Amino acid sequence: MQKKYLMTPGPTPVPSEVLITQARPMIHHRTPEFDQVVRNCIEGLKYIFQTEQSDVLIFSCSGTGAMESSIVNCFSAGDEILIAINGKFGQRMELIAKAYGLKVSTLEYGWQEVVDPSDIAAHLEANPQTRGVVVTQSETSSGVLNDIEAIGKVVKNYEDCVFIVDSITGIGAVECKTDEWGLDVVMTGSQKGLMLPPGLAAVSISPKAWRAYERSALPKFYFDWKKYLKSLAQDTTPFTPAVSLMIGLDVALKLMREEGIEKIIARHARLAEATRKGVEALGLELFAPEEGRGNAVTPVWVPEGIDGKQLVKIMKGKHGVTIAGGQDDYAGRIFRIGHLGHFGDFDIIVTLSALEMALVELGYDFEPGRGVKAAEAVFMV
Ligand SMILES: *Cc1c(COP(=O)(O)O)cnc(C)c1O
Repeated sequence: MQKKYLMTPGPTPVPSEVLITQARPMIHHRTPEFDQVVRNCIEGLKYIFQTEQSDVLIFSCSGTGAMESSIVNCFSAGDEILIAINGKFGQRMELIAKAYGLKVSTLEYGWQEVVDPSDIAAHLEANPQTRGVVVTQSETSSGVLNDIEAIGKVVKNYEDCVFIVDSITGIGAVECKTDEWGLDVVMTGSQKGLMLPPGLAAVSISPKAWRAYERSALPKFYFDWKKYLKSLAQDTTPFTPAVSLMIGLDVALKLMREEGIEKIIARHARLAEATRKGVEALGLELFAPEEGRGNAVTPVWVPEGIDGKQLVKIMKGKHGVTIAGGQDDYAGRIFRIGHLGHFGDFDIIVTLSALEMALVELGYDFEPGRGVKAAEAVFMV
């Protein structure tokens, strides 16, 4: 039996310390025992989000629920917002905002482009009535990292405009300083950097975002932020939460705190660098541009004459290594190696080795071993 490696940017591998707690018998959620879990989770998330000023709320849903919550809690129908789009998840934000009747302006970039903060500055200068700016920090579809810090400095100057950041594959992989950078709403999902199964999402809400909430007239019920805040005053949740996942989150956050946020980010930077050096040593080309490469996922062009879908299939079927293919226009044209969450050096070595073996099988002309060697050179420093 082949050992399995899940090298995708969500879901990501779950540490055994987390898995085992989830196997314990169910507990009731209106108990002092669970109240303590809620308290621990909120406190741990504030540490990971690097915030003291914002409230952090947890929802039982996938990341998209957190995205929807940011729209329904900050805006009213007809409000003008700006969404920067350089990948699939920026597009999803546009679909959600339009579904709720917002007047959406978009800054559209290619999937291999980084959002330019000066474009956002120019838009806000020309449209000072804009109520919100939405940017994806780490575009999981393209591996592109946008400069949230620089955009935060721009949006800060507009009193009634909130800065909403989809950091679903940013949190825990790259720096995301909620308070210091002036981020009003930041979100993540459990199956990404938090090392849990899918099913939970977390959102941070700054005082400025709470002022937007007070103005907001969009209908909301399950995702009404105030309901969750009120319950949190009693260390509980308004509805039955995903109890096992919350218990797992408590453990995962303890593991993250033991390692320390700066070390977690440094580990991800090193895994990403080794992956990039490894694939480049095989003569393959990175998809994301040099000026904006994140630490969560490394997308790579499938070389000329090689079937990208077959490559993903061989790696999984023969070598037990699951990587992700490309999405939309890039299906079959790129593959994506995830290294977000519970990963170490040897996960990257195994993946590069499996990639080399699959490329040999597909007849790609290169010198096997060079990718692994290049990654080892990064790890030996
Ligand atoms: C995974 C992800 C989401 C949310 O997707 P769900 O499938 O709803 O969890 C949103 N944005 C980004 C950047 C993501 O990577």
